[in-house]
Amino acid sequence: MEFIPVNEPLLDGNEKKYLCECIDTGWISSEGPFVKEFEQKMSATVGRKYGVAVSNGTAALEVAVQALGIGEGDEVIMPAFTIISCAMAVTRLGAVPVLVDSDLHTWNMITEEIEAKITSRTKAIMVVHLYGMPVEMDDILAIVKKYDLKVIEDAAEMHGQTYKGKFCGSFGDISTFSFYPNKHITTGEGGMVVTDNEELAERCRLIRNLCFRKDIRYVHDEISDNYRFTNLQAAVGLAQLERLDEFVARKRAMGKYYTERLKDMSGLILPIEKTDYAENIYWVYGILLGRQFEIDNKTIQKLLAEERIGSRTFFWCMHEQPVYRKQRLFRNETYPNAEYLARKGFYIPSGLALSEEQMERVVTVIRKIFHNL
Ligand SMILES: *Cc1c(COP(=O)(O)O)cnc(C)c1O
Repeated sequence: MEFIPVNEPLLDGNEKKYLCECIDTGWISSEGPFVKEFEQKMSATVGRKYGVAVSNGTAALEVAVQALGIGEGDEVIMPAFTIISCAMAVTRLGAVPVLVDSDLHTWNMITEEIEAKITSRTKAIMVVHLYGMPVEMDDILAIVKKYDLKVIEDAAEMHGQTYKGKFCGSFGDISTFSFYPNKHITTGEGGMVVTDNEELAERCRLIRNLCFRKDIRYVHDEISDNYRFTNLQAAVGLAQLERLDEFVARKRAMGKYYTERLKDMSGLILPIEKTDYAENIYWVYGILLGRQFEIDNKTIQKLLAEERIGSRTFFWCMHEQPVYRKQRLFRNETYPNAEYLARKGFYIPSGLALSEEQMERVVTVIRKIFHNL
């Protein structure tokens, strides 16, 4: 039986053509002309003035946090349930992530719990839109205005998504994207920081490139890293970006297909289709096991693998990361909803190249597995 991978990207547009152009012209490094074009087009797509392309989405977060001047002892509020890139971008600079529990309906952080976490050391809120639904941005914007905080918006899973008609990626002082192959737009590896602030954009460009001093090369006032993005990546990105609307529509259709065929199954909590502020774009199609099941997501993953179907568990919570336990961070902290998501959530094949026959088999297998449980 054919194995159905959890993700396969769709690369049948102009990717090959633009890549050949790179090779024919010899422009393959970060100095190539596609990089600037991709930065300009991607940032314009979400209504931002500046885009700085970097090596991946994690790098985008690292550059964003460093560009904002966040450092030793500063606190950044973020969800307990997210990818570790968010926390690592903060802890690597000696700053402290302050965690917030998740909403079991949207899987995003509970905005009502943020205000109680603010201290005199709080510098920013890292907003992470997860699995296809945006965070309640009106709540966030009211809080940051009241307390004069910065917003770092992680829009890695949100290409083309809007909150009340305004693009995700347009809400942060700095917003970030990832172009990993399981995102709606991919460049293999890749990421971008977008902002409307010229000075911040300039800081990001500096941090992307080892903080070379402008006046004398090979002289550095600050530590950063090499986060550069190549012309080859930009070539793929430009071709992908041409199809953003089509990709979002396709993901939404896939989401509807799965929901239509799984919604009668008791005990499976499916992604919400929409709220009054957004319609789900299904970064991936996530499923949550209801409380009646004693098994966890790892068991489901194993059962699906036996049927040759790829799946992934949800993210593991920040306060339960062994690396942060060792550092005695988040001691005695619990976030029950985030812990529930981490143990009971999994996602099924939902890449853009997935065919209807493959989806049909995924549905059949899931129905069989849960029937037998
Ligand atoms: C994928 C992802 C990242 C990290 O992006 P990489 O390109 O894999 O480094 C960061 N945040 C979120 C929410 C993501 O989904």
